[in-house]
Amino acid sequence: MRTKRCSNVASETDEMFGFRSGSDFTFDEFQRYAYTFKESYFGIQDAKEGSNAGETKKKTWKPSVEDIEGEYWRIVEQPTDEVEVYYGADLETGVFGSGFPKALSVVTGNDSDQYAMSGWNLNHFPRLPGSVLSFKINSSPMVYVEMCFSSFCWLVEDHHLYSLFPNWGDPKVCYGVSGSHAPALERAMRKHLPNLFEEQPHLLNELVTQLSPSVLKSEGVPLHRAVQHSGEFVLTFPRAYHSGFNCGFNCAEAVNVAPVDWLEHGQNAVELYSKQCRKTSTSHGKFLLGSAREAVQALWELSVLGKKTTRNMSWQSVCGKDGMLTRAVKTRVRMLEERLDSLPICLKPQKMERDFDLNNGRECFSCFYDLHLLAARCKCSSDRFSCLKHAKLFCSCDINHRYVLQLHTINELNMLVEALEGRSEAIIWASEDTTDMHTTRLDHESGMFHKRIKSCDPRET
Ligand SMILES: [Zn+2]
Ligand SMILES: [Zn+2]
Repeated sequence: MRTKRCSNVASETDEMFGFRSGSDFTFDEFQRYAYTFKESYFGIQDAKEGSNAGETKKKTWKPSVEDIEGEYWRIVEQPTDEVEVYYGADLETGVFGSGFPKALSVVTGNDSDQYAMSGWNLNHFPRLPGSVLSFKINSSPMVYVEMCFSSFCWLVEDHHLYSLFPNWGDPKVCYGVSGSHAPALERAMRKHLPNLFEEQPHLLNELVTQLSPSVLKSEGVPLHRAVQHSGEFVLTFPRAYHSGFNCGFNCAEAVNVAPVDWLEHGQNAVELYSKQCRKTSTSHGKFLLGSAREAVQALWELSVLGKKTTRNMSWQSVCGKDGMLTRAVKTRVRMLEERLDSLPICLKPQKMERDFDLNNGRECFSCFYDLHLLAARCKCSSDRFSCLKHAKLFCSCDINHRYVLQLHTINELNMLVEALEGRSEAIIWASEDTTDMHTTRLDHESGMFHKRIKSCDPRET
């Protein structure tokens, strides 16, 4: 089956797998095209099977969702049948508009105000209290204009984020596999499409592979199916593979969401991306530290000022010794500590400049790992950095020319964890401006990391 994407450039991989850039359509033109296609497609199918030749021209038979589903998988599984459909994918709401009204600064009393103000409005959803995406500037929804058989192939969201999409128009059939069974789905894909994976080892990142639910079931992959009708929302969970197709003309909007419990999934995602040398689209370290700073501020306001606002209470609920935010920060700090400990060579510590990754994320030259908290560099290059795993591949310069850049020392990060756990002194300490704090303390405080580096620096012995 071929899908032509409208108003969107198809990548080389898209082209290889039958996705091509299509013509430009207006919304109305697309709608008319979609209706005509479906009518004639199923009319013809019906006519072939119809017994009375005189009745074949105008049939009013409407295929059910199950009829369309059967036909869809028949086409996908029989590559000799060529069916071409169009799909307006990943259209930016900033350019093409959103189906949800934007909140006006003045509430007018119109009916549309309730939709403008609603938390279910996709324009606000990613920035609701408790969502760590509020630290990311660009989290606008995308629009999808679809027709019968236009499909979305098996995918997980970038950074294993949650996604939320409402549907308007004809039903959308969605299949889902829970995050815990993602590796099972990947194994099944590799087993059934060995040649494709040989050509393109990270094929699943390209969103071009469809495999039928019956094949996945036969491989023991637990699968869920949902028919999404007009006005219904579908929420996908971290690393939950999903795919599907449309039963006719419809329009969907989708946005990624990151409640605090996503942080640990996002951490797993960046570790996986580093192993696959896959580029990250956003800095996980910024999300993590941004969330921790907001939370500490909230804890300070609660304990010192007694400000029991919804926002403050919401942050408090993810803190404490066992809180999910505390756990996520602790896991990352332990990980940093282990990486520093296992460095095969000793690198000199250096304070990370404030503007190190202020405007653009910095990534490892080798695996694209996010370097917001820690990076390695050498005097021989001013714009090349690496993660600690790849510090040894950096260059062949003398070790004295190489540095480890730290945003915060391990001691500072441990204090941050203690603040999140609720220790009063740590809350007061961490609620100060952390940026100013680290510029003065990194050089003066003999942190654990600082000490360790000193003790193995050949010039110190
Ligand atoms: Zn790396
Ligand atoms: Zn060098």
